[in-house]
Parts: sequence; C-alpha cells; structure tokens
Amino acid sequence: MRVVILGAGHGGGHLATTLARMNADLEITLIGDEPVLPYQRPPLSKAFLAGDLAESRLYLRPEKIYDNAGIERLLGVSAVGLDTEQRVLRLSDGRDLSYDKLVLATGGRPRFLDIEGKDLAGVFCLRSLAHVNAMREQFQAAQSLVILGGGYIGLEVAAVARKFGKNVHIVEKEERLLARVATPETSEFFKRLHEEEGTQLHLSCHAERIEGQGRVRKVVLSDGQVLDADFVLMAVGLEPNIELAEQADIVCDNGVLVNEFGLTSHEDVYAFGDCANMMNLALGRFCRLESVQNAVDAGNVVAAHICGVEEPYQAVPWFWSDQFDVKYQSVGLAQGYDEVIRRGSDDRRYSLFYMKDGRVIAVDAFSRVKDFMAAKKLVADKVKLPATQIADEDFEIKSLL
Ligand code: FAD
Repeated sequence: MRVVILGAGHGGGHLATTLARMNADLEITLIGDEPVLPYQRPPLSKAFLAGDLAESRLYLRPEKIYDNAGIERLLGVSAVGLDTEQRVLRLSDGRDLSYDKLVLATGGRPRFLDIEGKDLAGVFCLRSLAHVNAMREQFQAAQSLVILGGGYIGLEVAAVARKFGKNVHIVEKEERLLARVATPETSEFFKRLHEEEGTQLHLSCHAERIEGQGRVRKVVLSDGQVLDADFVLMAVGLEPNIELAEQADIVCDNGVLVNEFGLTSHEDVYAFGDCANMMNLALGRFCRLESVQNAVDAGNVVAAHICGVEEPYQAVPWFWSDQFDVKYQSVGLAQGYDEVIRRGSDDRRYSLFYMKDGRVIAVDAFSRVKDFMAAKKLVADKVKLPATQIADEDFEIKSLL
C-alpha cells in the first residue's frame, strides 16, 4: 500500500515515522514545499529567534531515520492538483504521483493584512524557518518594532525583542490580547506581564497604513497615533491550506472537515493538524486547533486508522508559550465555565482552574509545571474537586491522581 503524505511539517513528519514504525511494508512518500526536513515551529518565535537555539536542533528527526525507515522524501516540491477518482496527485515538477491513501497535512499560511505599505521592505510575517532567516538581520538591527496582532506569535516575538532592549509596540484590534484563544483572565495576565516588561500595547486599535520610502518608517494607527518603526511583523493569524481539497470537492468548513479518525468526505483521503477541522470525541465537537499536541495526537489516530486500528480522536488539547521568564501551559478548553479558582499567590507564578459543575474543565498555569501535569489528568478524567482544596497551596493535587 502506498501512502502519500502531503505536507512535511510537524504533523506530516511525525506521521511518516509513526507509520513506518507501525507497518514496515508500507510505501511512504512525504511531500513538502519547504526545501528542508520536518522541523518544529515553536522555537521560531522563541529560542531560535533569540539566537539561543541552533538550526540543527529544530529538526524533528535526523535524515538517517527517514533513510532507515525507507521513507521517500520529495522536498521543495508542491502538489498543485488532486484527482480523487484516479487517486493521483499532480506535482509542481510535472510528475503525477499515484496513491492508495493520501493524507493532507498542509498546515496553513500567515494571514497578511492588505493595507497600504504592506510591500515595503522591513514588513515580515512568521511561519517558517525561511521567514526567520529572511528577517533575522533586520530584526537584530531594528530599534523600533511594531507588531500587528496580539496573539501568541506576536507576544512571543515582542518578548524576544524586549529582551534585546528594543522599543516594541503591539497593535491589537480587539479590546484584549489573545481574544480568540484565551480567557479574559489569561489575557489580563499577559497584558500585565508585557506592560511590566515595557511592551507598549495599543488595544482596540488597528494599523491604517504603513509609511516609508522603499522601507518601513512609520505605522499610522486608527486612533491617529503615528508609531516610528523600522521593523513590522504581521502576526494576525493563519489561513488553513485547503485549496487542493476544495478543488477536489472534499468537504471543507473552517479547514478540511474530518471525522474522529481523520477521514475526509472522500474515502482514502485523510487530513489532520492545522489544516483540519477534526471531530474530537472528548470535546464532543469539531475543532480546528493550531498546536503541536494536536498535530502529534491526531497524527497517531490517522496512522492507526491507516494500519486498520480504530482509535478515535479524544485527546484533551494542551498548549504552551514562553514569554520573558514565564512558562505558560494550558490544558482543556476553557469555555462555558462557571467558576475560576486561583492557586498560588505570586503574581507571575500561579494557576487558574476553570470549573463547571464542580469539575475541572481547563487550567492555565503560569510557571506552575506541577499544576499543569496534574491538571492534564484532572481534565481528562473530569475529576470533581472542592474549590478550597484547589486554592490551598499546601494541598498536593497530585495526591488525588
Ligand atoms: P505545518 O507544520 O505548518 O506543516 C505543513 C507543511 O505543509 C508546511 O511545510 C507547508 O509548507 C506544507 N504544504 C502546504 N501545502 C502544500 C502543498 N500543496 N504541497 C506541498 N507542501 C505543502 N504550537 C504549540 O503547541 N506551542 C507553541 O508554542 C507554538 N508556537 C508556534 C510558533 C510559531 C512561530 C508557529 C508558526 C507555530 C507555533 N505553534 C505552536 C503551532 C505549531 O507549530 C503547529 O500547530 C504545527 O506546526 C502544525 O503542524 P502541521 O503539520 O499541521 O502544519
């Protein structure tokens, strides 16, 4: 059986080696338009941007692992057409590749704001290794950064830039940071953290235009302020790469729509990771998540299904972000909670437990790794816990597990 994995990112790379381990008889081909082996993206806006991590440390696996597993790699090549009747993928180099099972792990691309001045030199976005390599010199030389978008990537880049003493502005059109992905309590934590560290925040505000002669000099905001800028980062979210699926009439709705096994509306075609809106049985609904946890756990589900084992997707989502001296970790989806309990009195080291009907449904932990580890289990097992015990730092939550 020939399995073709389209997209050699975190999910595609993980799936290829997992499949090879599960069934050595599979013919596996991994196709990616980036010219490099699968790598981790999280450090791109953290340690790698800061210069604290070598490029060699980004890669998921060394080349010899793919060689030994017999995984064929077609890198620097993109798929430009898909014929699900003939089970053929058309490649940018003119080749047609047939498959028995196709997996779409195409991730997404950064959204780019269509505003005046967007094409000036010094305006960047951040998704890939190539993006960081293209911006690195100018990032290092920059004095004044304007970051459009107060999501995780924008905040992480701001934290790195502040570490180097740069003047940093974040412009966010919503009234709070992380509005799409975090609770108001967690937005407030990051607002305070960044303000204490000297990031200048402009909330409920957007960039009207970017000005400069050939290269960026200023950003004009909707509230009339004009910010000096020699570096602008657009960090305003991601567009899932679903065009190929759409052209092949595969059902898409906020990503490629897939069931709890990662199967699309077309038999023999799977999708997972950032590009897929997948049924999660633990949450009882479709979710399109942009996280390493999702790319890895959903990849395991797809690998099992291709090998004939039905293990529905029911992983509890978790995520992390590193900013300044804070390691943030979250687990569960904090939606529809009726109570929030704080554990820990230090304003940079505490956890928030989100409760519904006395059960822990999600936790945000700020530099509280032990709480996070315990919370993963509490949330997965829907444990009932009295508020007084959670708030009591002397009580070992771990003892309940
Ligand atoms: P990707 O890793 O994006 O891989 C998709 C690949 O498919 C890409 O290489 C793409 O170029 C390729 N492709 C697309 N279309 C085609 C085509 N037609 N032909 C060939 N190739 C194609 N997650 C966390 O959990 N924690 C973090 O702290 C965190 N930080 C992040 C920081 C940054 C800067 C970024 C960009 C992401 C971060 N993430 C983080 C998210 C995480 O990296 C993604 O969720 C994960 O990479 C998703 O894996 P994927 O395989 O679905 O997509």
